[in-house]
Amino acid sequence: MESLEILTAAVADPFTYARKLKKDGGKKVVGYMCTYAPEEIIFAAGAHPLRLFGSNKNIILADGHLQAYCCSLVRGVLEDALSGDLNFLDGMIFPHTCDTVQRLSDIWRLNVPAGFHLDVVLPVKLNTASAREYLIDVLNLFRSNLEKALKVKITGDDLRKSIALYNEIRNSLKRVYELKSKNPQIIKGKDIYTLLRGAMIMERSSYLKLLQSAIKELEKSAIKTTNTKKKRLVLSGGLCSHPDIYSVIEDAGGDVVADDLCTGSRYFAGLIKTDGDPITAIAERYLQRVICSAKHKDNKSRAENLIQTAQENGADGVIFMLLKFCDPHAFDYPYLKEALDKAVIPSLLLEVEDQPQAQGQLQTRIEAFLETL
Ligand code: SF4
Ligand code: SF4
Repeated sequence: MESLEILTAAVADPFTYARKLKKDGGKKVVGYMCTYAPEEIIFAAGAHPLRLFGSNKNIILADGHLQAYCCSLVRGVLEDALSGDLNFLDGMIFPHTCDTVQRLSDIWRLNVPAGFHLDVVLPVKLNTASAREYLIDVLNLFRSNLEKALKVKITGDDLRKSIALYNEIRNSLKRVYELKSKNPQIIKGKDIYTLLRGAMIMERSSYLKLLQSAIKELEKSAIKTTNTKKKRLVLSGGLCSHPDIYSVIEDAGGDVVADDLCTGSRYFAGLIKTDGDPITAIAERYLQRVICSAKHKDNKSRAENLIQTAQENGADGVIFMLLKFCDPHAFDYPYLKEALDKAVIPSLLLEVEDQPQAQGQLQTRIEAFLETL
């Protein structure tokens, strides 16, 4: 699939891709790390939002600023920044999520010379009477801070066009997931991973064209492929930076048919309303979208969403991918596991890190889990 080849190249080396986009397309590049960064506003400002995913380098420079018990995402991103690999960034956005990201924001401000630095102090509780109003104010403030930093004007029309594009991307990614769930043989898990990552790395209009062409190919091959009796699994957690996990699962006799990841379905869940004030519409998506562990709503909505995802996709089990030292997700795990147990959905907990780790151990645990299903 030609579109997948282009996506794979960009995803394999996002920094080279972004540098080229900046040099050839004259785009300003703005880094972010989390689905709570309002990408639609960055895109509307004419800049390129680039999601940073950590590094598989040895962590040396970042260790001088962060404790070893911070998650590998944050340590990896800081390592890349301090080693100069992110010097091409025109700015960096830090949404208020977990404590570790807030500390990273402070460290970044003092130690990373690249570009401007903006905090987006979102509400922590998303279901209080004042959260909606406050969130709209925060996003409006972000819009005007970004205008100053990039020396542009972001019009209502710019925002509406950006929202329309993001809605199309999110709808298309949902379609890919539907196709995969209906017929897991249609595309390898690692290619789904690439399709998703591309959405956070590539220039969004070109990305949408590639994605739509990939969907056409998938729809054609859906007619030819037949279903198998492999075990159907859901991946749950924060972000997944382990494309190999999909191949390990597939080799062990399973298929990932859905997920509950911030680099997966949480990235594309929920569309933004296209009528009314665009900033209010962006805020409303955040308030209604399935919650992430670093935000609070109640103590059941994540579990309900996970159980619903598993049931709707006919899953035989759930694999939790817990990034080591990610406190918000570690705090959620016991209640999610309890809810799955009550719903009689078997689950496995894997603790992972961005830096290379023993593949054999993961493989043995996944094989053993699949045998029990
Ligand atoms: S897990 Fe949640 S808070 Fe953490 S990076 Fe992903 S979206 Fe952001
Ligand atoms: S939410 Fe977890 S993975 Fe994301 S930055 Fe915070 S500690 Fe790291």
